[in-house]
Amino acid sequence: MSQYNRELKVAIEIIRKAFLITEWFRKKGIESFYFKKLDQSPVTLADFASQIYLISQLREYFQDDQIIAEEENIEFIDQEAEILIKQCFEELGINKPTILKENIGYRGKSSERKWTIDPIDGTIGYQKGLSYAIGVGFMVESNPKICAIAVPNYNEKSLAIFSAEENQGAHVSYNTNVFKPIKVSQNEKIHKIRLCHSLHYDKPWVLDFARKIGIRNFIQIDSMAKFSMVADGTADLYIKPLDAEHSFTWDFMPGDLIVREAGGLVTDLKGERLKFKEEKCLWTVPGIIATNGILQNKILELIKRNYLNHIN
Ligand SMILES: [Mg+2]
Repeated sequence: MSQYNRELKVAIEIIRKAFLITEWFRKKGIESFYFKKLDQSPVTLADFASQIYLISQLREYFQDDQIIAEEENIEFIDQEAEILIKQCFEELGINKPTILKENIGYRGKSSERKWTIDPIDGTIGYQKGLSYAIGVGFMVESNPKICAIAVPNYNEKSLAIFSAEENQGAHVSYNTNVFKPIKVSQNEKIHKIRLCHSLHYDKPWVLDFARKIGIRNFIQIDSMAKFSMVADGTADLYIKPLDAEHSFTWDFMPGDLIVREAGGLVTDLKGERLKFKEEKCLWTVPGIIATNGILQNKILELIKRNYLNHIN
């Protein structure tokens, strides 16, 4: 049995249930009931319900671990919201937790063992019935150890759960408990690259650059599912512009591990590995790429030659 087998099992089990929660809100037609956070990004009741559930489970299984989670605006949970979340939990057979607001803000004690939670990654995609993901990661001393990423309607195959553990490879399961290994693509030709890029948060230089170097195949979707696509070989390259304000561990730690364990690489635009310090994902240049590994240096060199001075 691998070192973090229990953590991985729990992560997979709880994101599977968190997916039922997010879909419950969609089926009720209240997926677009949302609020704007300070940075103007949207958050829905389903984000809160998913996070409440994930935190309540992690604190039960791993009492002493620290939690780094995205949502913190407890004030959005009014009486009406509370009733809906409780109704969701009741219908899905989730007895606990009764104290909803306390779980949103729970982060545990400072520990070298840290969990990251993104209760819905790609909230705009979720609201619009497009792609989204639920991501859970686990680190020890800031080193990624395991991750689990749930992606509904992945490649039209319904729910996909991607998982990885350090030095144990990356896996996927579709609607079952059977996990199969995944590997990055073997493509080394620039003109054959399938590029993943963001549907709602892209910068113009990404497509300008891609077209200039001869890329013709584009996959535009929301969420950390883009990392999953590089990991299982559906795509060969993912380019993500970043800024310091929106560069969080819960967005990138699971994707970083899934790609590397599938044989690929994830670095910033200077070729440095990502670092995770508490809730912040750190880099030296504001952008990252994930590739099948074979293409990493070629792409970094082309970005450096063509664009690095203009990127902001
Ligand atoms: Mg989110």
